Amino acid sequence: MGRHYHGSIQGRFVFAVQDSDDINNLVAISPEMSYMWKVCLCTANIEDDDYCTDCYASKKEHEDAVIEDDITDEENCLYIEEQTMSYYLDKDSHYDELKNNMDKLKLKIYPKIIDEFDKIEQNDNILDAFTGVFDNTITKLNEIEKEKKEIEKEKREIEKEKKDNKLNKSTGILYIYQQIFNAFTDMFVDKDDKLDTTLKEIEHDLSKHKTYNDNRAFVARYTLGYQLEYCLRTTDGDCYIHCEC
Ligand SMILES: [Zn+2]
Repeated sequence: MGRHYHGSIQGRFVFAVQDSDDINNLVAISPEMSYMWKVCLCTANIEDDDYCTDCYASKKEHEDAVIEDDITDEENCLYIEEQTMSYYLDKDSHYDELKNNMDKLKLKIYPKIIDEFDKIEQNDNILDAFTGVFDNTITKLNEIEKEKKEIEKEKREIEKEKKDNKLNKSTGILYIYQQIFNAFTDMFVDKDDKLDTTLKEIEHDLSKHKTYNDNRAFVARYTLGYQLEYCLRTTDGDCYIHCEC
């Protein structure tokens, strides 16, 4: 299940956070749409041929086959669009641009996750994400997300404590209690201050955490870029990738 990409590099687009044209966020490049011939489903080169020359002797023969296959097909068209976009990259045109965009993207990702990317051994396993080469980056991402959830929980608890503290202050009995132990009148105020300081610290910690969806999307994009970078750097000639939509 899921949308895959294959060709010079392989992997799977991350569900819900990564579009099939995510390459466009790394290099300015237009995808080529793929087509296939009706009935035989061969790959269609629609610029050169107007029917499948591999399977039919004439255009008429292919047309007859289409009508025979589906009587309701009245379109005067022998091919359909495949749910795939293809990109062709080459080192001269795209490598520097990709590198620049990767450097910018790097700044939006937790340094701890980038450390995991930096530890990856430079070999052809990178070309295939299914080898598990990127697993540690995901593990690290999950750890950080868990940490963030814990900080948020702590924040909720402090906020509740602050509310309770305020409630205590406003009750009469405690007011009298406070008067008797006059020396400690500032007790509640102090506690409030302390809670405020803790809250500020928590807010600061949280501000370092970017939103969940952004993290997933950026790490997914960085992974794709990492594969493309390796491919362009180590492969002679072009790097091509077919992306399922
Ligand atoms: Zn064919």
